[in-house]
Amino acid sequence: MAALGKIVWVIGIIAWYFIRVPFERRAKRVNVVSNRRSPVDMFGLASGLGGLAIVPALYVATGFPQAADHSASPWTVIAGTIVFFFALWVFRRTHKELGRNWSITLEIRDKHELISGGPYAFVRHPMYTSFMLMGVGQALLLPNWVAGLAGLFGFALLFFLRVDKEERMMLEIFGIQYRDYMQRTKRIVPYLY
Ligand code: SAH
Repeated sequence: MAALGKIVWVIGIIAWYFIRVPFERRAKRVNVVSNRRSPVDMFGLASGLGGLAIVPALYVATGFPQAADHSASPWTVIAGTIVFFFALWVFRRTHKELGRNWSITLEIRDKHELISGGPYAFVRHPMYTSFMLMGVGQALLLPNWVAGLAGLFGFALLFFLRVDKEERMMLEIFGIQYRDYMQRTKRIVPYLY
């Protein structure tokens, strides 16, 4: 069961990579008008990458840290598979919807548009929702307290170090339009938060 969970996680993370790559390529061709990359944001990004990719990849490859292993059950593997693939679906939808406005950090691009359709009609940060769900999936798929929970931990650092700044930046650029949009939507959990 533990091996199955690991295999599903590996397939999921490879799928994640193939969803993202074409957008990174396309994004390079759109000019950046305003760049808010900061050391704090880079640290958040590194935490997300570490927790959602590097720590679990190391665990899958080497079994480290063995002392933190716990037992796997078919139910957690099934639930983890469903949650992880749902997260990937949301992730893909957000990229399609953001299109040329997408950035890995906080940036405003040439002719930046405010997107409020598709998954952005439910929450303001559906891509971060998808990272959170990937973290939940990872915790269910990998029967190891450290490698399993690293994703949620990395997500939390990335999200909480970034979200206020991102919303302030969007308010600066879009003003009342973003304020209205904020009134209609929650941050990452529809109707709740
Ligand atoms: N926080 C969003 C987007 C993450 S990508 C989400 O979780 O889905 C980060 C970039 O997206 C930022 O540089 C910002 O310029 C852009 N962005 C964030 N929300 C946006 C929106 N509603 N419309 C257009 N661009 C947006």
